[in-house]
Amino acid sequence: MNVLVVGGAGYIGSHTAKALHRAGFTPVVFDNLVYGHRWAVRWGPFVEADLADKAAILEALRRYRIEAVIHFAAYAYVGESMQNPAKYFRNNVAHMLNLLEAMVEVGVQPIVFSSSCATYGIPHAVPIREDFPQAPINPYGETKLMGERMLKWFGVGHGLRWVALRYFNASGADPEGELGEVHDPETHLIPLVIDAALGRRPPVRIFGTDYPTPDGTAIRDYIHVDDLASAHVRALQYLLEGGEPVALNLGTGQGTSVREVIRAVERVALRPVPAEEAPRRPGDPPVLVADPSLAKKVLGWEARYQEIVDIVRTAWNFAIRHSRVSSA
Ligand code: UDP
Repeated sequence: MNVLVVGGAGYIGSHTAKALHRAGFTPVVFDNLVYGHRWAVRWGPFVEADLADKAAILEALRRYRIEAVIHFAAYAYVGESMQNPAKYFRNNVAHMLNLLEAMVEVGVQPIVFSSSCATYGIPHAVPIREDFPQAPINPYGETKLMGERMLKWFGVGHGLRWVALRYFNASGADPEGELGEVHDPETHLIPLVIDAALGRRPPVRIFGTDYPTPDGTAIRDYIHVDDLASAHVRALQYLLEGGEPVALNLGTGQGTSVREVIRAVERVALRPVPAEEAPRRPGDPPVLVADPSLAKKVLGWEARYQEIVDIVRTAWNFAIRHSRVSSA
C-alpha cells in the first residue's frame, strides 16, 4: 500500500518513512526540501514539490495510487512564529487546506497528522490529558490547533478519517545510525548540548533557572523519534482497520529537566558539558509532561525509550558520525 508522507524528508517524517517501509508499506515522500534532506529519503519514491501547489498534490495522489496520508510538513520554530505569524498560517494552515481538499477530490480518506503539545499552551495541571483545554500561547501552536479543527470538520463534511498525534519533545535518532536530527538553525536542547560537549558550538545556555521545579530548570517529556515513528504506523493501521477519529498525546509520561538532560549527555559523552545560566526563553511553559495512557488504550502503543540517557545515546551516536553542523 502506498502512503503519501508529506514532509517525509524531515526529522520525524524520515524516521516514519523507514518504519513504514519496515512494516510493509511503501512511503511516497512529498517534500519541498526547505528544511528536509534529500539524503533522508531512502525507502520509496520521492516527489519534490510544495503543498502550495495543489496540482502537484493531486498528481502525486493519482500517480502513486495513494491510499493514506501522513502529514508532517510544517514550520516549527516557535520564536519565528511569534515574529512572522503569516509565514506560519500560510504554510501550516492554508497549504494544509490544499492537501485536505486534494484528498477529498481524489477520495483518499485516512490521514495521520502531526499535532503538538504546543496546542495546550500553559496547562493547568500535569500530566496533560487530551481533554485538557487547548489554548496555544504562540502562532505555531495555534496553527497546529487549526489543523486539528480542519480535520474534524473535513471528517464531518467529507468523511475524512483522521488521527492527530500531539507530540511532546521529539528527540534521539535512528538507532541504526541512518537518520537523525539535523535542523538549520538548530534550536533544540539535546543536539545543542551534544554539540557543546563536542566543542562544535559555544557552551549551552540554560534558559531559566528560576522555574518552580526541583532544580529550577524547565521540565519536558522527551520522546524518542523511533517511538514517534512506530506510533504513526500504529495510527495508520488503526485507521485502516476502521478506527474512529481521535487525538492522542505521544510522550513517555516522564519529565526531565534541562539540567538532567545535560547530566545525561555528560554520562554518555564521558566529559563535562560547558553550560551557562541564561534568562527564561519567552513562551516556554515550566512543565510539559504527557499522560500517554489514551494512546496505549487506543493504539496499543507505548514508548519503548523511557530513560533519557538511552535517548541521548542514540542522538550522540548520530552526532559523532554526522559531522556537519548547521548554524546556531
Ligand atoms: N532549552 C535551553 N537551552 C537551549 C535550548 C532549549 O535551556 O539552548 C530549554 C528550553 O527552554 C526548554 C527545553 O530546553 O525548556 C526544551 O527546549 P526545545 O527547544 O528542545 O524544545 P521545546 O520544548 O521548545 O519544544
